[in-house]
This record gives sequence, structure tokens and C-alpha cells, in this order.
Amino acid sequence: MGCIENKTTPANGSSARDFNAFEVMEPRLPLKTPVDRRNGRNVKDNDIPPEGVYLPNNNFLAPHMQSPEYVQLSTAAAITLGVMGGRMYGCECTRCLNLLLTYPEGCRANCAYCGLARHREADRDYADRNFIRVDWPAVPMAEIVDIVAKDPDASQFHRMCISMITHPRSEEDTFTVLKQWTDRIDPEAIPVSILSNPTTMTREDVRKTRDLGADIFTVALDAATPEIFDRTRGKGVQSPHKWSKYWEILEDARDIFGPQKFGAHIIVGMGETEHEVLDLVQKLVDLGGHSHMFCFFPEQGSLMDHLPATPRDQWRRVQLARYLIDYREVRVEQMRFDELGRVVDYGIPEHELSSVIDEGIAFRTSGCPGKFRDDISACDRPYGDSPPSDIASYPFQPKKKDLRKIRRELDIPVRVE
Ligand code: SF4
Repeated sequence: MGCIENKTTPANGSSARDFNAFEVMEPRLPLKTPVDRRNGRNVKDNDIPPEGVYLPNNNFLAPHMQSPEYVQLSTAAAITLGVMGGRMYGCECTRCLNLLLTYPEGCRANCAYCGLARHREADRDYADRNFIRVDWPAVPMAEIVDIVAKDPDASQFHRMCISMITHPRSEEDTFTVLKQWTDRIDPEAIPVSILSNPTTMTREDVRKTRDLGADIFTVALDAATPEIFDRTRGKGVQSPHKWSKYWEILEDARDIFGPQKFGAHIIVGMGETEHEVLDLVQKLVDLGGHSHMFCFFPEQGSLMDHLPATPRDQWRRVQLARYLIDYREVRVEQMRFDELGRVVDYGIPEHELSSVIDEGIAFRTSGCPGKFRDDISACDRPYGDSPPSDIASYPFQPKKKDLRKIRRELDIPVRVE
């Protein structure tokens, strides 16, 4: 427990609106899906054969594509791989090849903040749904492997990641996609992470991903507390996930993958206090793992698209404190929080804090490491949690002008010890 004066959340969360309070962050309820749109029925009934790369377009009926033959990949990964044109603000490429399993019936869960959620089958075919603010083109897995296998050592990708979704076939297809990759591409050249779906997984499944060549296993807890988890991805939105099952698989990952080789995703700003999320960060570090942070953004079409994005000052405080806990051996107990659970003291002398801020790494996207250094994520997810005009997670090294903005957002009352 950190030193806290009085940890409560204001009734309306609006006094300074510098954080997203629990009471404000209530998802809307999913509506009923018409029968003819359920389970990807229109895509399966029309059965249009796919032809190569599919770029999402909600004006056509999506072709009938499914894993393991097809996977979706982030817009940034598609541009970097060369299967799609485009440029990204501030970065030449992404360092992580993020893959997503795909099926006409899509993800069977209904997480309130997610663009892939089941309730969206009412208005959009699965392959056309936006996820973390971008489109996900669908590409034959064999084509991806062919491109990267030509020269893995020279690839711009420092890591590949398979994102499982909630689907009865997701374990088997993850094994197939992983094997297809490691049969041709040495994981020493491009290591592989698994972003798991604990709801349908067993301990044996976790072990199998390691045996097939994955080196990091992550669990998308997403919510920082059990109450927020239930409200946003459990029974609150008719979704199947359970906090206890996510922790069971996270602990399996710790046992099987070992220290520094497992982690959890957490979305900041869905109603938790800063103290609550940083307590969770500390718990993960104490277990031997890492936290990968996302700033809440109201994804268009999701059940939380009417809610405010995380204010930048809340996000910056949590980003900075999380970096200190994860990489600078500062403990949450050394930090001090105000009566609303906000960080008011980071627990280290001002000059040390200043040099961490000026180094800028704390404000970059967090995730599994690449080839630069342990605290620089390969998974840079360009603009996955904010627009380029108001960056939350920097997909590039922040420049001087960025750091000036970050300092303004932080407005830190630093103490000299
Ligand atoms: S399980 Fe993952 S992909 Fe499916 S709705 Fe939830 S967050 Fe989205």
C-alpha cells in the first residue's frame, strides 16, 4: 500500500475533470442483434471467396476468410510489410508485426471498450471492424511468412505477436499460425509473443505456445480492478470473461514462461484510481512480470464510445509512475497519493525524476521489448490510443517539443528529499 491520505472517488468525478471517475465511465448496454446478422451469417451464406489481401471496406460484403489461412494485421504492420500503401506521422515503420485471428463470426466476447466486440455484428462484418482506432487488413498467413522469411535478420520487425480472440477455434489456430511462423523464421531473429484469450485456455495450452517457440506470454486484463472488469467485459455487458480465470492463466504464464517473460495489458482511465492501477503494476512486478499500458480512447462503435478519453494529466502521471515501478525499482509504497488516489509524489528526488522525464522512454508505447533495449517496446502501436494531434503513447522517441508538452501535462509537484 502506498502512503494515501484518503482514497475516494468524487461522486461526479467532475471537480477538476483531470481523471476519469468510476461513476462516469459506465458503458451503454448492447442491443439485440437481428438473427440474420448473428454469427457472421451473411458472410458465411454469401460465401464470397477471398482473393489475396483484403482491405477493410464497409461498403462491400466481406469475403469468407478465416484463420489459420487468413489473419488480420494492424494498418501499421500492413504498411511496414508492404502489402498496403500509406505513411505514419513521426515513424517510418512499426517494429511489431501484430496479427489477429479472424473468423466471419468474429470474437464471441462483448468487451465494452473494444471495436471487435460481438454486439457490432449488427452493423459491421468482422473483417471491417476498427480496433484500437485503426483498420486491420486481412492477409493470407502464407504470404506474410513468405515476405518475412526472405531475410528475417534484416526485417524491420523486432517481434511478432499473435492476438487470440474469444472463439472456439482460437487455441488450435494459434498453434497452427505459430508453427507456420517458427517452421520458417527463427524466433532468435524475430521473437514471438502471444496475446492470449484466457477464457477458453488451459495450462497445457499455455505450455504449448512456449513449446512451439513463443517467448513472451501476455494476458489482457485490460481492467485494473475486478469491478471494472465485470462491468466492461463480464456479466455487465453479456460477455463471458472472469477476473479469476484471467489471473489463473497469468499465474500459469509466470510458472511456464518465467520472470520477465510474461505480462498484462491494462487500460488506464476506465474508472480506476491512479493508486489502484499502480498497485496492480506493483503486484505484476512482484510476480516477476511487466505491465503494458493503454490510455483509454472511446473506440468508435464500441459500448464506451460516448465516454471521455483519459485526460492527459492522469495518463502522464500513471505512465511515469508505472515506468519507475517497472524499470527503476521504485515501489508504489514510496509514492504518495492524494485523497482522490492521484499521484502527488513519485518517491524519488527531483533531479532523478527530471532525468527520467527528459529521457522520454517512460512516455513511449509500452509492451514487449524489441532489439533496442529492455524498456523500449517493439510493440509501438502507432496511434492506437490517441490521434497524432494529441499523442498518449509515443510510437517514437519524444523530441524536445514533445517533452515540453509532457512536462506541462504532468505539472508535477516534485519534492526535493
Ligand atoms: S476478448 Fe478481446 S477482442 Fe474480444 S471483445 Fe474482448 S477485448 Fe475485444
